[in-house]
Amino acid sequence: MSLTESRSNHKWSEPAQLLEKAQQVISLSDSTPHAVDDLPSNGSFKVGVDLGTAYTVMVVLNEKGEPIVGEYQFTQIVRDGLVVDFIGAVDLLRAMKQRLQAKLGRTLSHAASGYPPGVPQAERAATAHVIEAAGMACQGLIDEPTAANNVLRIQDGVIVDIGGGTTGIAIFENGEVVYTADEATGGTHLSLVIAGANDISFEEAEALKKDPAEQSRLFPIVRLVMEKMGTIVEKHIRGSGARSIILVGGTPLFPGISEVISEITSLPTRVPSNPLFITPLGIAMHDWMN
Ligand code: ATP
Repeated sequence: MSLTESRSNHKWSEPAQLLEKAQQVISLSDSTPHAVDDLPSNGSFKVGVDLGTAYTVMVVLNEKGEPIVGEYQFTQIVRDGLVVDFIGAVDLLRAMKQRLQAKLGRTLSHAASGYPPGVPQAERAATAHVIEAAGMACQGLIDEPTAANNVLRIQDGVIVDIGGGTTGIAIFENGEVVYTADEATGGTHLSLVIAGANDISFEEAEALKKDPAEQSRLFPIVRLVMEKMGTIVEKHIRGSGARSIILVGGTPLFPGISEVISEITSLPTRVPSNPLFITPLGIAMHDWMN
């Protein structure tokens, strides 16, 4: 299990098996699909769809709540939590649904979806409309931090979701969200800084940023953006009494980010294994059984 941990005297527990299973079964849309073992011939599924600024993820859980199949794809259909390309989103989701149905040999008739906290009701409805236009009933809509905490199950602390476009902060007390904020600094900004420093395109910078062989060389270049993320987190949690931070989303896959955030907030900060799949899994858990 990979676990980046800062301030090592802090004790953590996490649903490592669930996240490792997610890593095994959720594949990039255009890669060779993973074989689906233990395929249930009947029984109910729970389906989660996470429409993101950078990635759209669709994951299917079995009756026991274990991920059995899923896909993710780089997309540009959402900006700051709002669906900006409705037709593109529907086409993409319909194609994902068809491929997953082919792997399962079953029809996926319903799915839950998520929305960033603070998004108005009309925009939440737009997310549900995408799912329905792709041919699935959408009875479950859940805010993203609560979805993440369906998986992480923290009572008290902070979940920081660093995606493509934004950094979202959610403070939990007694297992409930008591404060949320979302600010427009995310992984895209890391890529823009890398593109500028290396005089390359955004797409080339995205690929470079995700290459493990390049990340230690790039760390000094992106550190300032990470410090800004830390400053954003610190500003929102100041005075809250929060004592620890968990980072979720795709950007925490960049090594060293938990140390930077920990330094700036003076709080123990960790990245669970497979942080990219935590929110989509928690969204799927919110789906109603058929
Ligand atoms: P948002 O939450 O802002 O709507 P999103 O849900 O699409 O966006 P995520 O899927 O959580 O965001 O994360 C996407 C970001 O994670 C992108 O900026 C992507 O470049 C970055 N990312 C993905 N994999 C890696 C990696 N291995 N190393 C560094 N960054 C990564």
